[in-house]
Amino acid sequence: MLACPQCKGALRYESERDSLVCDRCRLIYAVKDDIPIMVVKEAESF
Ligand SMILES: [Zn+2]
Repeated sequence: MLACPQCKGALRYESERDSLVCDRCRLIYAVKDDIPIMVVKEAESF
């Protein structure tokens, strides 16, 4: 299970956009070539 690099909480996989979502930080981590980009400054906020 992957953890959010910011809050260390569990991430939720969203298959619709192929991304990992942290509901606590409201950040979306993109997945590129099956590798999640676990960098807070690269994440998208929502
Ligand atoms: Zn988080």
